[in-house]
Amino acid sequence: SFHKSKGQHILKNPLLVDAIVQKSGIKPTDVILEIGPGTGNLTKKLLEAGKKVIAVEIDPRMVLELQRRFQGTPYSNRLTVIQGDVLKTELPYFDICVANIPYQISSPLTFKLLSHQPAFRCAIIMFQREFAMRLVAQPGDKLYCRLTVNTQLHARIFHLLKVGKNNFRPPPKVDSSVVRIEPRKPRIEVNTKEWDGFLRICFNRKNKTLGAIFRQKNVISLLEKNYKTVQALKLSQAGVVKETGSKTGFSSFGDFDDDQGMDMDGGSDDDDDDDGMEVEDGEAEESQSEFKDKVLGVLKEGDFEEKRSSKLTLQEFLYLLSLFNKAGIHFS
Ligand code: SAM
Repeated sequence: SFHKSKGQHILKNPLLVDAIVQKSGIKPTDVILEIGPGTGNLTKKLLEAGKKVIAVEIDPRMVLELQRRFQGTPYSNRLTVIQGDVLKTELPYFDICVANIPYQISSPLTFKLLSHQPAFRCAIIMFQREFAMRLVAQPGDKLYCRLTVNTQLHARIFHLLKVGKNNFRPPPKVDSSVVRIEPRKPRIEVNTKEWDGFLRICFNRKNKTLGAIFRQKNVISLLEKNYKTVQALKLSQAGVVKETGSKTGFSSFGDFDDDQGMDMDGGSDDDDDDDGMEVEDGEAEESQSEFKDKVLGVLKEGDFEEKRSSKLTLQEFLYLLSLFNKAGIHFS
């Protein structure tokens, strides 16, 4: 019997397996990383198409079944099976990744692949349909969200195939899609924490104007705190002040979760409810308004005040962050 908790839905349609392999554009010289090979239906075709397959599978029963299936065949010396959780496994070198994964690991796996170096040529992955549509969304699309911008920073992503539930045994609850992920070469270099903090704020209310978002008290006070930390650091580095007195360090928005913007819920940003973060009124107010002008000045400079994150391109996000940083305003 299959393990629901491990997302074991076996591809039973051989035509679909063929289509996935064909769309992958595998070369005979390729080292292929397969994640979650299961009983090996896809693995067999990958072995026919490439030079070598390294398969990572968490379930020891599946690992046994897989080894049994290829034992004594010409394929066996070109297949390496690693038993373990792919999220905890150090990935070997590979040219191409092909995976029909359990959907609960979609976000962390995508992020892991995108930070893998040296960058592979492409990854062909089956995802839950909605997750796939978030990955390929364009500015203005309903599903355009933090996850979209975070993944598109590192890769170009294409929708390849729509896959109905009935191609699997047992059928999952949701439809699926196969996408192609091509890491950008060269990489776009950003400070990851800075970028993540910035996007969390921008997508906090993705349909409000950036002007409205950056007027929020909690946002201003967070950025002001970071600003002061940077200024104090600069002064102390210049030898002007020995002790800053502030040991607070950097603050970022939404420290409470650690999902890298890759999850379905935290990264989808559809919610418009208030998170209850407020600063106390009073003396902070006055310095706030001065700092607020600085922040809004940056938005005006780039003509961003009336724009909304739901319609901003990756290039616009990168540009806006660079304007903030130039003004000494930081997000982590
Ligand atoms: N590739 C096979 C196919 O297409 O028929 C099976 C796909 S099934 C959706 C997902 C497979 O991933 C299962 O074999 C499951 O045991 C394995 N798996 C689940 N979680 C995993 C993890 N964290 N690391 C590696 N493999 C995992």
